[in-house]
Amino acid sequence: MPFDQLLGNRRIKENLTGALARRHIAHFYLISGPKGSGKHTLARLLAAGILCQGQEKPCGVCSACRKALNNAHPDFITVDDPDKKHVPIDLIRQTTADMYVRPNEANHKIYLFPRGEDMGIPTQNALLKILEEPPSYGVFIILTTNSDKLLPTVRSRCTELAMTALPEEQLKNALHSQFPQASPQQIAGAIARSGGYLGQAQEILQEAEGATKNTEDFLHAYARQDAFALLKVLCPMEKWKRDALIGELEQWVLVLTDALTARSGMTATLPLADLVASSRSRKDLMRAIEVLQKTINYARGNVSPAAISGYLQWALR
Ligand SMILES: [Zn+2]
Repeated sequence: MPFDQLLGNRRIKENLTGALARRHIAHFYLISGPKGSGKHTLARLLAAGILCQGQEKPCGVCSACRKALNNAHPDFITVDDPDKKHVPIDLIRQTTADMYVRPNEANHKIYLFPRGEDMGIPTQNALLKILEEPPSYGVFIILTTNSDKLLPTVRSRCTELAMTALPEEQLKNALHSQFPQASPQQIAGAIARSGGYLGQAQEILQEAEGATKNTEDFLHAYARQDAFALLKVLCPMEKWKRDALIGELEQWVLVLTDALTARSGMTATLPLADLVASSRSRKDLMRAIEVLQKTINYARGNVSPAAISGYLQWALR
């Protein structure tokens, strides 16, 4: 059942399954919910359900479903310019013209507006013209992280589908299978920070995976005293977000402190701490820890990641 691709949100899935079976298709849908709550997944499933040529809609296997689910159906059109901060009004005007051209191969023509929260008032007024007299085959799906940013006249014309947070158990199961390498603590941490939205938890764990690789690269470069490898780790960090940068530097301090412990004859507990302990002196380690701690304080005090990265390139060379 393709609707299973979207976790949770049982009521929305049941309602849409019933409506699609009866071919009750609205002209306007508003899918609202925070980042990572599954709005895009639901929009693709809804489009597939409308365009589907199979029995149970969406069947997930007919060619219309497969194209819609892959964002490759000629009658499922995304209206956006991701390079622009706001959705340009010209795009809405082009859509108005395009919508009177009959569908290519389906009985419907579906337009997806992925950034409802970034539509200014003039853009929304242009959209209203469409909402006032849509062609019979036209379906319009607006996604938004904030329904309040839409004009009441736009919102009132739409069937609103509000995404809901997932129960912790369901999130945990999904994340364990998607991130088999992540520790139970990492998964619990991601769930706590995700607000119950799978996409946000996935992003946190993906960042953690990237950070783990980055930490490994740093420790290898630092242990080998390889200045070039160290630059390769530090340079890209000038573009990191401050929180991620602080988290990463704290991780380095933990491992170097562990290596320092190992140098005084205790057992190291963190990966690669032994390698660092065997190649750098006590004095080196104490100095690096001091530099890193100073840098973490700078970062907390609003020094930019670019300046932090530059300072570390000099201080850890
Ligand atoms: Zn189908």
